[in-house]
Amino acid sequence: MAMLKLSILAAAFVCACAVPHPPLRNTIFGDEKLEGQIFENLQYQVEDSSSRNIAANEYRLPTTTIPVHYNVLWNIVLTTYFIFNGEVTINLTPTQAGVNEIVIHSEDLNITSLSLKKQGSEANLEYSYFLQPDLDFLRVQLFNSTLDYDANVENIYELTIGFSASLRTDMYGIYRSWYFENPNNTALPIYMASTQFQGTSARKAFPCYDEPSFKATFDIRIRHSTQFKSWSCTRINNTIPEGTTYVTDVYHTTPKMSTYLLALIVADYDSRPVNNTQGLITYEVIGRHAAFEDSQYEYAFDVGQALLAEMNNITDIDFYEIPHMKMTQASIPDFSAGAMENWGLLTYREAYLMYNSEHTNSNSKQLIAYILSHEIAHMWFGNLVTNEWWDVLWLNEGFARYYQYFLTHEVETYMEFETRFITEQIHTSLLADSVTSAHPLSHSGIGSQESVSGMFSTLSYNKGAAVIRMTEKLLGSNVHKQGLRNYLKNRAFDIAAPIHLFQELQNVAEEFNATEEYGADFSVIDYYQSWTEQAGHPVLNVQVNHQTGQMLISQQRFDINSGYSTALRNWVVPITFATKSNPYFENTKPTHVISDGIAIINRGSVGDEWVIFNIQQTGFYRVNYDNYTWDLNALALRQNSGIHEYNKAQIVNDVFQFARAGLMPYHRALNILSFLENEVEYAPWVAAITGFNWLRNRLAGTENLPKLESLIANWTTTVIGNITYEPLPNETGTNFMRSYLRMQLAPTLCAINAPGCRDVAIRQFQEFVEGTEVPVDSRPWVYCNGLRNSTNAVVNFNFLYNRFKTHTVYNEKIVILSALGCTIHRESLITFLTDIFEDNYIIRPQDYSTAFNAAVSGNEENTQIVFEFIKQNLTLVENGFRVTSRFRSPLISPLSTIASRLRTEAEINEFQQWAVENRQVLGSAFGPVMNAAEDTRQSISWTKGIEGDLLLYLEEGGASIQTSTSAPTTTPLPSSTVTANPVVAPPTPELPDSAVTSALSISIIVGVAIINFAL
Ligand SMILES: [Zn+2]
Repeated sequence: MAMLKLSILAAAFVCACAVPHPPLRNTIFGDEKLEGQIFENLQYQVEDSSSRNIAANEYRLPTTTIPVHYNVLWNIVLTTYFIFNGEVTINLTPTQAGVNEIVIHSEDLNITSLSLKKQGSEANLEYSYFLQPDLDFLRVQLFNSTLDYDANVENIYELTIGFSASLRTDMYGIYRSWYFENPNNTALPIYMASTQFQGTSARKAFPCYDEPSFKATFDIRIRHSTQFKSWSCTRINNTIPEGTTYVTDVYHTTPKMSTYLLALIVADYDSRPVNNTQGLITYEVIGRHAAFEDSQYEYAFDVGQALLAEMNNITDIDFYEIPHMKMTQASIPDFSAGAMENWGLLTYREAYLMYNSEHTNSNSKQLIAYILSHEIAHMWFGNLVTNEWWDVLWLNEGFARYYQYFLTHEVETYMEFETRFITEQIHTSLLADSVTSAHPLSHSGIGSQESVSGMFSTLSYNKGAAVIRMTEKLLGSNVHKQGLRNYLKNRAFDIAAPIHLFQELQNVAEEFNATEEYGADFSVIDYYQSWTEQAGHPVLNVQVNHQTGQMLISQQRFDINSGYSTALRNWVVPITFATKSNPYFENTKPTHVISDGIAIINRGSVGDEWVIFNIQQTGFYRVNYDNYTWDLNALALRQNSGIHEYNKAQIVNDVFQFARAGLMPYHRALNILSFLENEVEYAPWVAAITGFNWLRNRLAGTENLPKLESLIANWTTTVIGNITYEPLPNETGTNFMRSYLRMQLAPTLCAINAPGCRDVAIRQFQEFVEGTEVPVDSRPWVYCNGLRNSTNAVVNFNFLYNRFKTHTVYNEKIVILSALGCTIHRESLITFLTDIFEDNYIIRPQDYSTAFNAAVSGNEENTQIVFEFIKQNLTLVENGFRVTSRFRSPLISPLSTIASRLRTEAEINEFQQWAVENRQVLGSAFGPVMNAAEDTRQSISWTKGIEGDLLLYLEEGGASIQTSTSAPTTTPLPSSTVTANPVVAPPTPELPDSAVTSALSISIIVGVAIINFAL
């Protein structure tokens, strides 16, 4: 019997092998999977959704009891022991009869006491309790009784719990941080305590109902040494002395809120406050003394107030109407997230809040402005109205990201956030959304801490914001704003599901007839559901009959690996387009909405002319055209025919990704992109440099890289001639975008040795060593190329490293940290690496990734030096990255970074052989690390498949585009805008022979730590 089974299996195996599977095509390689990059969280989406749903429920609290009010005391001890203890009384009530158990969260806390009684009664109930660490639950079970329940009367029970724990060091829960008051005196660090609770860490600070839907009010008291001050969400009510060395600060009652939004700080900090006419504090910036001495708080102080006032106007709900509320902007030395929207006590990494005009560059300045904006927007979208669960996180983060750009635009207009939204948000989210494993915005099955963490993704943030912008254009800004105001007003101090938002927008659209041109069948709810309940987005294929003006439009889900994949259903797609005879790129209100797979729209003109769909890239989709129309569009781009800057960026991004996905040959893509030769605008060039850098990574180590780099150098001649490597006097204020574009182009141009770039860098670095500061916006690439082309490598490295250690502006420290890896002196690089990983007060764990990535990528030769260092110091590296690796082996990130930079098969084999020999030591990192190397092998293989196509352009130049002949004859289409059936699929793309035959490793993705700039 056993024998027979075996032979059947063997036959099946032979059969399976006899039918060749089409090679799976993959274009996502290590460089895009690394920490903080586009594809950071794929592993959450490949699991079977039914098993996820079952598992998710396990982690959720029962709703049989709910909290009404908390009374919490925290005692923070910032001396020898670094501990905290405290007591919480939770006023809770049953929601049904027969409840004999109370389940709340508690993680890593010692429970020192527990009692339960009915409010107004002296007698404690009889109960037992136990902890369930795998689910972070604290279960309190009643003996032979149930909680009294009456549908008409709220029966309150008081659950009082004493707790204690060490102050954490992993930057979650209540944790300790440090700084030096004087950077030249590093003998005595000063300690402080801060918190980070989102999404699942309030349970590490006190026993509580740690899910966003369990909203309650909080009375908070913080006991601390008189050496320190304390801060929490609301104003201090009074302070009670506790002997001579301790005090207890008593805070006013908070609004009804979720636990993840609570915060506390205990620190010897300075404050720059604003008081209202009653003398009560309304707004302040707080931070360490040294950062206050040169007024680094001023920018956040001014801009934060302006942003808050503007957001009050936009929402028509005054932040200060919430009783006892003030806004504290706090700068924190160690912070795992970039920033956090705790209600009334917003926290930031110091580099994201403190500004110094001489040492903070344009990138950091805009970062401060837009992170402030993001967190301030959360006061309404997230704090006042909260996502009901983390599976619809986009209701919080999509809006915060949207206002991060469009609120900041109202206050700091010269930073052109509207322009930058295109490349920074739309293009990044289209990419993240173009794999089969992408998650829908509304994503069921989220339960564990790890899966909650995975929702803080490029999709929740960037795609959420992009879809919100599309909706704003669909309804018109004023109607959209009114809908949002109604949503906030009707859901205030409560939670929201997506349908609440959709319904408010539907109501307001009907009230103002905002969607009548889209047809009687149009529904905002259907539209929004099509974009939030399924993953992905379409590519619109537009085929134009230039003789009749009829345009055949079909939609299919885009796939970055293979061109197209299967959509669950069609999207409800807003349509806008401009043409040569109707070139109005300012009109972003859609003229049509299509919801079928295929539709016909009349262009309104006949004869050959360019047609550009998706005006200002307001719709969340890509657009491909028939070849003839592409030719007309390419000619129009070359002739500078008034095509909008955002649409040029859209075309650059689309064309690069169509080529990557196999929908368009590279030689044709580059022919269309050749308009860049005369292009000087910001957005198309940022889109282009992103696309070129991806291609450079593919060609790295091959003989064809110089050919590509020569093309980039040629095409950038005009734009760099326009913005120059040398800044204008006072450029950062008046010519922000000129400076900002240079910041993005120069690093690549120096790396490819474009004429002039390194000369400027070397000269400015030499002047810097001699005492003249480098223009602040030029420092990232001047520091790097100064070190890279140094004739005095050791001295110059030490000069810059010493500046890092002693500088008091954190932005400058980060710029230096990112440049130190450019040293060409091997021992200096080793010193830098050792300092990253050793436990010291030089480089903070929050900056380890920045520093390490700089060390690996500073020069091509660094990869092997750093790999050798890791091999020799595996335990040191593992311990170093442990703090920032929450749910995975600390070795995955550094080794995968190395793997992504291997250049040849021989290097890959050697790397994998080392991994195999050290399999035991690598433990759970082994699989991901092996796969990371395999990714690079696929990258090499994929590149071989497209090189011939690429060389057609790089070696032979572009074919001239001829459209003087008449348009090709096509069968006239029916003159109707009614959708036609059946759906005709666009032709299957011709895929380059990529020869990628080994199993894909998407299911085991490296680099899963989620570091978003702003939470
Ligand atoms: Zn956020």
